[in-house]
Amino acid sequence: MVAIRVQQLLGGDRRTLAKAITLVESQLPVHQQQAQRLLSQLLLHTGKSLRLGISGTPGVGKSTFIEAFGQYLLDQGLRIAVLAVDPSSPIAGGSILGDKTRMEQLSREPNAYIRPSPAAGALGGVAQTTRESLLLCEAAGFDVVLVETVGVGQSEYQVANMVDFFLLLMQPNTGDELQGIKKGILELADAIVVNKADGNLASFAERDCGQYQQVLGLVTRTGFWQPKVVTCSALENRGIDRIWSMVVEYRDQARTQGEFDRKRAQQNTNWMMHLFEQELLTKAMGRPGFTEQQQDLKNQVATGRITPLVAARALLELK
Ligand code: GDP
Repeated sequence: MVAIRVQQLLGGDRRTLAKAITLVESQLPVHQQQAQRLLSQLLLHTGKSLRLGISGTPGVGKSTFIEAFGQYLLDQGLRIAVLAVDPSSPIAGGSILGDKTRMEQLSREPNAYIRPSPAAGALGGVAQTTRESLLLCEAAGFDVVLVETVGVGQSEYQVANMVDFFLLLMQPNTGDELQGIKKGILELADAIVVNKADGNLASFAERDCGQYQQVLGLVTRTGFWQPKVVTCSALENRGIDRIWSMVVEYRDQARTQGEFDRKRAQQNTNWMMHLFEQELLTKAMGRPGFTEQQQDLKNQVATGRITPLVAARALLELK
């Protein structure tokens, strides 16, 4: 058992918060049970923050942006937490987000809490951990929780499905192509931020802004919000206030329309069913004899002796 003082956590103590996050990240069954008990206790104190996803390819300026944006929020009297979902850890064993000290200035601020991404585990596991860490940050009274991820692969979907607003960071392109941007990612974005709109890159940034607007116009969206495209310079601290105003505008409209709570409820029930599927699979695959039976059925399917559906059902009914 890990000693976690609930009152200290609720009071916003960062060391207690760090301990609690370590607990939810632990793979040990005894820790996992304790983490679930803790979360149940805290659930009533969660939900009050604004959850903001930030994604972009390496080098686009995420940490510079978070430094500038975070500082701006602190200046508004807000407390901010930064969590990271690092897609590289399960795949390459290394880490894109976690291995250097990032956001140094912000990490020294008493009203900011920066958590490096969890070290290991399947992506599904990291997403679960981050969702739980987000709840812990809310219980600790943070007003804005930023969830950062690198714009490669699956992690953007994971993050978009746990936040209220999803920001996609881009950098001005010096070529004519729109950085081979995936249409699926555009569908996730509530706003595209073209960063580095300064110096020689300023005019490219403006041009790209117009192009993204056109592309976004072609993406069909449900809901009231028409995704926006804006420019900023994280390095020179310009355009940061406009981005916050836009997020606030979204939040206020979404609340008025009932969309804010509806989206969160939907995210939670979707996640519940995702976990259910995972648990079901783990349970089914953990039965004695599963591996042998699976191999046998695969052989039968591969040689055309039975159909895939019959084999799948046989595997499910394995006693
Ligand atoms: P990350 O990998 O997405 O976290 O990107 P970083 O924040 O580490 O930034 C990558 C590089 O881009 C660094 O050299 C930054 O100084 C630079 N950079 C970040 N933001 C800006 C900006 O607004 N303007 C310019 N000119 N450079 C920037």
